[in-house]
Amino acid sequence: MAFPAVEFTDLTKVYEMGAERVHALRGVSARFEQGSFWAIMGASGSGKSTLLSILGCLDRPTSGTYRLGGEDVSRLGDDALSDIRLRHLGFVFQSFNLVPQLTVAENIALPLYYQGVPERESAARAAEFAAVVGLEGRLGHRPSQLSGGQQQRAAIARALATDPTVILADEPTGNLDTATSVEIMKLFRSLHERGKTIVMVTHEPDIAGWAERRLVLRDGLVKEAT
Ligand code: ADP
Ligand code: MG
Repeated sequence: MAFPAVEFTDLTKVYEMGAERVHALRGVSARFEQGSFWAIMGASGSGKSTLLSILGCLDRPTSGTYRLGGEDVSRLGDDALSDIRLRHLGFVFQSFNLVPQLTVAENIALPLYYQGVPERESAARAAEFAAVVGLEGRLGHRPSQLSGGQQQRAAIARALATDPTVILADEPTGNLDTATSVEIMKLFRSLHERGKTIVMVTHEPDIAGWAERRLVLRDGLVKEAT
């Protein structure tokens, strides 16, 4: 039987700030099935980034469990978490986070390099994923020679290159104009139609409308899941 791509139960996160304790997550639970496309929504300070960094294995919950692809990853150490990130997760950020000195092809191939994939094979895969995002004519360009939308396409291709279990996106259209945002959401939608599991944080209802499901946070709790 297929297990959900992402399943978390009673996740809490408390940040210690000197004597003060900030309860960023107060017990959130959800299951994201394989191939689903979720938007995580909520007002500023509701816990969206905290949840995404736990789902992205960049941080650990204070309590609760998190299963990624059926494996409990909530208590793993730093090395194991970075290995999980490399093998199972693809990240897309608001600010694209491309390496400026590298070409589009080299940026897309970067996670494959870290995985030890031979150069010839990673170059071939980079070209393949550049074509998936419509950048086949830009392989030798550097990020500064691309528009914002093209930079985000390159970042999405990089996220896809390792065939991750889940793609995590944090405000992926936050730095883009409306028309370009729609282009990027069409690309996410097409990846969803190809069976990719996508979890996207956004505070914009128009952008969340492109997702298939919505998880709304309020004050560190799930307000609704629809
Ligand atoms: P959102 O992304 O929805 O705006 P966050 O997850 O960033 O919300 O923050 C949730 C709460 O946790 C906020 O009150 C925020 O101030 C607090 N918080 C977030 N990160 C930290 C941190 N590293 N240290 C202390 N408090 C934090
Ligand atoms: Mg945030």
